[in-house]
Amino acid sequence: MRRTATSKSISSGRFQLLEKCADGSERARQPFRSWAELWIFTGTRCNLACTECYTESSPRNGSFRFITVEETEQFLKEARALGIPKICYTGGEPFYNPHFPDILDLTLEMGFQCLLLTNLTRPYEVRGKSSLHRHSAAGHSLQIRASLDHPDPAIHEGGDLDPATVRRYRVPSSPLNGHREYWFETGFNRGSGNFKRTLTNLRDLFSAGGEISVAGRGPRGVGGRLFQAYVEETVPRFRSLFESRGFPGDLPLRIFPDIGTRSDHDVPEITQHQCRTLIPETVFEGLMCNRTRMVAVPSKRNGQPNDDPLVFPCTIVPDNSAMALGKTLRESMMREAYLADPRCYRFCVAGGASCSET
Ligand code: SF4
Ligand code: SF4
Repeated sequence: MRRTATSKSISSGRFQLLEKCADGSERARQPFRSWAELWIFTGTRCNLACTECYTESSPRNGSFRFITVEETEQFLKEARALGIPKICYTGGEPFYNPHFPDILDLTLEMGFQCLLLTNLTRPYEVRGKSSLHRHSAAGHSLQIRASLDHPDPAIHEGGDLDPATVRRYRVPSSPLNGHREYWFETGFNRGSGNFKRTLTNLRDLFSAGGEISVAGRGPRGVGGRLFQAYVEETVPRFRSLFESRGFPGDLPLRIFPDIGTRSDHDVPEITQHQCRTLIPETVFEGLMCNRTRMVAVPSKRNGQPNDDPLVFPCTIVPDNSAMALGKTLRESMMREAYLADPRCYRFCVAGGASCSET
């Protein structure tokens, strides 16, 4: 089941204009400050079709086509000229893109640090295993972040959970937080056998010297203090799992909150006035849009006049074409990023989350 079951319709008038909020106020915007990293989106096709996928990727979703080696090389050259130290790849599943092994080789040959997000399932086994083992054994600067949504295989692999397997969890109560329970009626739908598969491939990579980490996710609609309680309850269960599979006790682990969708308009719009006066500066310092950009290639089917690569402010909003910042990295640096998407509030400002390692 896809998240459309809970999506709100676009009816409130919020998030309609790039530069203005619904009440006419100036929308919050962020100037670019300095480069931490460049993200490159390998395409929306993926061998899996997970519930809650941030990019709604699947084997059939071609709304962002595969980026090619030539297109990537053009941005890598610009990145090198700008002194960007690190290139991060995400999708879809990068190894579902037939060009990706060559793209990865090129990135590391050009001397970049690299972060790769992958589900470590069949495309990795077919197209990525020898490449990642080779680069890891050679000591190249390659971090591999594997997605393992939840330490319970039924939640990681299952779709709609039947009543007998609905997971309800109580979390410690707090006088400030009326919610004391979260639950999964729907798992992340990664498919039978993929829990064991990802863990086995992760273990092999670790044995080959790979610099590995794990990314988990929170339940749909759970944010704020309840999400923090979820993290506190779930991390020890991940740690027990890692220990039982022979991973080091300090294996890096991050759990990301649900980000909602572009059509979840029931969150506040953030004005430039709030941004300057009411919200602490530290909230904005960590935003990806003031220190990263993401290159993605919307296909013509995606309402674009052509299928040239475009530069977006971050990993979260490439499906919001109004937020594109140009066709080159330099052009994108000159333009401010407007916080014109509901996920700006849910994931970044309220959620305090970022896809960056730092
Ligand atoms: S493996 Fe990742 S990219 Fe693919 S559908 Fe699942 S969450 Fe989306
Ligand atoms: S989603 Fe976050 S990083 Fe991206 S533009 Fe919005 S506030 Fe910035």
